[in-house]
Amino acid sequence: MSNDSPSERDHHGISRRSFVRVGGAALAGGAALGGSAVPAAAATRPTLFPTAPRQDARVRAFRTLGRTGWRVSDVGMGSVPLRESNVVRYAYDKGVNYFDTAEGYGRGAAERAIGEAMQHMERDKIFIATKGRVADDDSAATIVDKVRQSLERLKTDYVDAYSMHAASSIEALSHAGYHEAMDQLKAEGRVRFTGVSYHGPGDPQGTSMGDLLTAAAEDGRFDLLLLVYNFMNHEEGDRIIAACKANNVGTTAMKTSPGVVSYEPLDPNNLTAQQEQYVERFTQRGQSREAAIERLEAQAQRRKDLYDRTRPFVERYGVSTDEQLRLASVHWVLQNSDMHTACIAFTNFDLVDKVVPLSGTEMGSAELHMLQQCKLALNQQYCRHGCTACGASCPHDVPVSTIMRYAYYYEGQGRQKDAMKLYAGLKGRNAAACRDCAGDCRGACPYGIDILPGMLQVHDLLTLA
Ligand code: SF4
Ligand code: SF4
Repeated sequence: MSNDSPSERDHHGISRRSFVRVGGAALAGGAALGGSAVPAAAATRPTLFPTAPRQDARVRAFRTLGRTGWRVSDVGMGSVPLRESNVVRYAYDKGVNYFDTAEGYGRGAAERAIGEAMQHMERDKIFIATKGRVADDDSAATIVDKVRQSLERLKTDYVDAYSMHAASSIEALSHAGYHEAMDQLKAEGRVRFTGVSYHGPGDPQGTSMGDLLTAAAEDGRFDLLLLVYNFMNHEEGDRIIAACKANNVGTTAMKTSPGVVSYEPLDPNNLTAQQEQYVERFTQRGQSREAAIERLEAQAQRRKDLYDRTRPFVERYGVSTDEQLRLASVHWVLQNSDMHTACIAFTNFDLVDKVVPLSGTEMGSAELHMLQQCKLALNQQYCRHGCTACGASCPHDVPVSTIMRYAYYYEGQGRQKDAMKLYAGLKGRNAAACRDCAGDCRGACPYGIDILPGMLQVHDLLTLA
C-alpha cells in the first residue's frame, strides 16, 4: 500500500512518491530522484533551482536528428519504467515528439503504453524509436518477426527507428540477419531508420561504450545512436557525439542523471511499500523477517555513507531533494545542441511539468558551478556506465561495470526485481568472488573508485541469500 498522502498525488492520481523514488547508488552510477529525507539544515536552505511544476510550459527547442532530417524535441521521452499511457499523451501535449522504447522494457509493457496513447497523437508528428536485442544466431526472419510484434504492441504501421539494443560487440554491428531484416522492413515501409543503443559490455573484457558507438557512428548504416550522457559521464559521450556529427548521425541520450544527495533513514516499524516487498521476497526464500530487516539496515547505512560524503556539497548548495539534482543534470544535457534529444523517463505528469520548462533554456553559471562541485563530490563513488577500464584487472572475470549498472537499476530506477534477476543471471561471475579476493582491482579505476568494498555491498543488495 502506498504511504503517500492525498496531497502527494498529482492531479492525475499518480502518486508523486511512487513516481519520483528512482533512488540511486552513486557507486552504481545511480541517481536518487525522490523526495528522500535529508537533514533539516540542508532542507531549509534556499536552493539554486526552482522545481515547481509549470503546467503551462511547452517544449521550446527542436533539433535535427542527424540524417533522419527529423526535428525532434530537445526533451524526449524514455520509457524503461513506463506503464501508464496517459503520461505519454501528456508529454505529447507539451510538445515532446520523440519517444524511445524497446521490446524488453517491462516485457513489452512500455511499447503497449505508447500504443495505447497512439490513437490520441498525430502519428506523423511523432518519432517512435524502438529496439530489440539481436542474438548472434538470429535470422532475418526472427528479427522481422520481433519488429512485427513491436508494431502490434505500438499499434502503428511503422516505427521511425528500430535499433540494435545493447549491441554485443563491434562485430555484431555487421550482423547479417539484422541488416537483411532492416532492408526488408524499410522496403515494406515498416521501419524508416536504424540505430544502435549501448551502455557498456556484459563482460569485463568487452568493448567500451566510446569504442562501440564511435564505430557505429562511422559504420554508415546507422542513422541514430542512444548513449549514456550526463555531467558525470560525458567524456566517452563527447567522443561519440563528435563522430556522430562528422557522419551526420542522430544522437539521443539515456541515463541523464547520476548522483546521490540524499538518503532515507530506515524505520523498521514503518517500512515503505517497497521495503515490505523486499522483506516479502526475502522471507519467501525461508529467511526470517529479522534477517531481512538487517539487510535493509545495511542498505540504509550504505546510502547514509554515500550521503555523508556528499553532505558538504548538499549543505553548501541547499539541495533539499535528489530531484533538484536530477533537473539540473537534465538541464546540463540539454545545453549541448549536438545531443539532439534527452530521453527522460516520464512516468508522472509532475515530472513532465518540471522538465519541459527546461527546454530551450540556458544554464546559469551558478548552476554549472554547482554541477562541477557535485562532480567532485561524487567522483570517487560514481561508476561510469559503459566504462571497461578496470575489466582486465580482475582475475575472476567479474563484470564490475555491469554489476554496478544492475545496482543502478535497483536503486536508481526502482527496478529491484529486474535488477536481482539480472544479477542472478550472472551466476558464477557475480561479486561473491570478491569476498575471498585480495583485491587485484585496487587502483585500476581511473576515477579512484574503491571497487572491492563497493562490490561486496552491491552483492548484498542484489541477492537474497
Ligand atoms: S575484488 Fe577481486 S574479484 Fe572483485 S572485482 Fe576486484 S579483482 Fe575482481
Ligand atoms: S574503472 Fe571505475 S568507473 Fe570504470 S567500470 Fe571500473 S569502477 Fe566503474
